[in-house]
Amino acid sequence: MAGCLRGFFFAFLWAILLAGQGLPQAHAYEIEDQPGYLDPALELPVPGLVPAPEFDDSRSTSGDRLRRFDRVLEKLGIPEEAAPGFYDFPAPGSVSFDEVAAHFPTIDPDGALRKYLGIHSSGVSLFRDFFSSGISSSLLEFFLPFRQARAKTPREPDSSPLIDRLRKIGMQVKQGLYAHPLSGLRVVIDPGHMGSEEWDHRTGKFVSVGGKTVSEGDIARSTALLLAGELEDLGAEVILTRLKNGPVARTPFESFDPTPFLNQYFYNSLDSWMRNHLALPEDRYLASAMSAPEVEKAFSPSQRTQYFISGEDLEARARIIDESLADLVIDIHYDASKSNELQSGDRSIEAFVPGGVRSGETGSRVTRSHHLKHLLEVRRWRESVDIASAMVNSMAETLKLPLLTRPEFLTSVKVKDGVYARNLYLNRRTLRSLMVYLECLHYDHVREFPQLTLKDRVGTYRGETFAYPRRIDAVVAGAKEGILRYFRNLE
Ligand SMILES: [Zn+2]
Repeated sequence: MAGCLRGFFFAFLWAILLAGQGLPQAHAYEIEDQPGYLDPALELPVPGLVPAPEFDDSRSTSGDRLRRFDRVLEKLGIPEEAAPGFYDFPAPGSVSFDEVAAHFPTIDPDGALRKYLGIHSSGVSLFRDFFSSGISSSLLEFFLPFRQARAKTPREPDSSPLIDRLRKIGMQVKQGLYAHPLSGLRVVIDPGHMGSEEWDHRTGKFVSVGGKTVSEGDIARSTALLLAGELEDLGAEVILTRLKNGPVARTPFESFDPTPFLNQYFYNSLDSWMRNHLALPEDRYLASAMSAPEVEKAFSPSQRTQYFISGEDLEARARIIDESLADLVIDIHYDASKSNELQSGDRSIEAFVPGGVRSGETGSRVTRSHHLKHLLEVRRWRESVDIASAMVNSMAETLKLPLLTRPEFLTSVKVKDGVYARNLYLNRRTLRSLMVYLECLHYDHVREFPQLTLKDRVGTYRGETFAYPRRIDAVVAGAKEGILRYFRNLE
């Protein structure tokens, strides 16, 4: 009881400070004894969460493995990770403990992020190292007070300006009186991968059989242009991350700077392969880490290509999303399990939404802060699930394909039929919008591939004319109807 009162007291103090000083509502701080700091002994368990398997870092006490990690980075000449930004996190009191606790199994299925969190009756804190009862407050990054069960103030959703805009569009769609029912909706459509022969061969995102080729980047681009045209006709403002095939990144592959992605590579390792080296005795860990095969790989030419494809280029797309202030982001992808042969097993459709961070993926403080935002913005996340579900269900009808229903798929966690939480770069990095990452159909399926090699239709978008397979019309019709259906059902 005393702990509970103390929690309330700090939440109260925090609220006064925020009101008095006009500070941002959530704030990152690392200074010992700063207001808002909570006694870690008040930590609450999260019901229903499966604990991550313990790994051997028993020898390194809290904070110690970070000191060792810093030494490894220094020796490698890798710069320190930039501090995460918490400026647009939910307002204090906009989410409750119960809501966040119920949200854990999809955002953090292994309890990997949970290791860094202190959950108290009054709020949640994020630390730079594993949370423990003795952890130094200097490792605290962020604290957000929960809405208390007894609070009398009316409840604001965690992403209220976004939800308000979506509701307004929902009213327009429901009334059925408008020529442009999606007027006011801002959408980013990102056609996955790059397309073009050069980049298909670097990324492997194509299927070639019997002298015919289907490129995922190319069919994704046609789908994106057609869907953009349809949504614009309904009044939406659409931003495409690319109009042509090729990289989105402005800097050429030959001269881009891989430093930020080398940095991510090593920070990601903190909770995966690096942890075993850091747990060795003081006189051995540094030499052991430096001779790890993963260190050699980090500086290899093939890894440099990866930094461009999965780093520089995806980050360029993420920046377009950030700058667009979009309400909705739609990532267009097609699936293939083979590259030089066709298959007849996999045919289902699915969409990925944010979440699903697995153990070994939480070493970066920036990554942790992104997942924490998805965890705390329960309402925004639920809307992503609802629009994703409406879209895949509608596409399953127009394409006459089944939804994916397996309990787990790759690293993702099932939310509902056809909708899975998955820690993909753009899902994680899309922090202010609804996010739907579509896998439209399997282009290596024996019945899809022949249809997709026929470019028997001509489309135009903003003066650009392009040939595409008519099968894509069903994808676009399903996606468009799914978006309208989502708004019709929005409460
Ligand atoms: Zn893809």
